[in-house]
Amino acid sequence: MWLKKPVIYGSLHQFEGQVSVFAPHLGAPCYRCMFPVPPAPGTVPDCNTAGVLGVLAGLIGTLQAAEAIKLLTQHGEPLLGRLLHADTLGTRFREFKLRRDPACPVCGENPAITAPIDYQHFCGLTPPGTQLELPPSQLEAARATHFLLDVREPWEHALLPFPADHWIPWQDLPSQLPTLPTARPILTLCRVGLRSHEAALLLRQNGHPHTLSLAGGLEAI
Ligand SMILES: [Zn+2]
Repeated sequence: MWLKKPVIYGSLHQFEGQVSVFAPHLGAPCYRCMFPVPPAPGTVPDCNTAGVLGVLAGLIGTLQAAEAIKLLTQHGEPLLGRLLHADTLGTRFREFKLRRDPACPVCGENPAITAPIDYQHFCGLTPPGTQLELPPSQLEAARATHFLLDVREPWEHALLPFPADHWIPWQDLPSQLPTLPTARPILTLCRVGLRSHEAALLLRQNGHPHTLSLAGGLEAI
């Protein structure tokens, strides 16, 4: 929006996906025209929970790449103001018109948001200014102070071993909360830092308010 760069949007859910290009500087809607407010925390399932047809990610990603090439080469008709919906179960593609919202909080006539904001706070995930991620450069120092909790699947340990203090697969965490120590703050970690982020949020809401997540996961160290 502020950098005048288009956002090539793609989303997936089980057997369905969507693609569009958000670019208010080109007359098209922005992401907030379509989704003015974020969903309530915890109401959006990720692919681990809801499942997603593997080839759908390839299909949607390829369509996004095609939009990027068209915009860069200024050829063809980009998905500006159009949302393409793909249903792989029925093998149907549908197109919906999207219009700019004059009351949009970002690109509307009286925008309430005029600069980048704290998205963790905006989405209700953390209080404003809360530090949740631990930079990989501080991992060695954190070993002395934190209880290291690996939330990867058991088969991942064989591929990328790491000497944590404890191992609980991410999806088993809710039932294993009573087994975690309360004397030391917890540092969660996984392969790329997404599951550990979710785990840290869960722990913060369940008696471990100082939990951190290793930013970027083990691949970042
Ligand atoms: Zn907008």
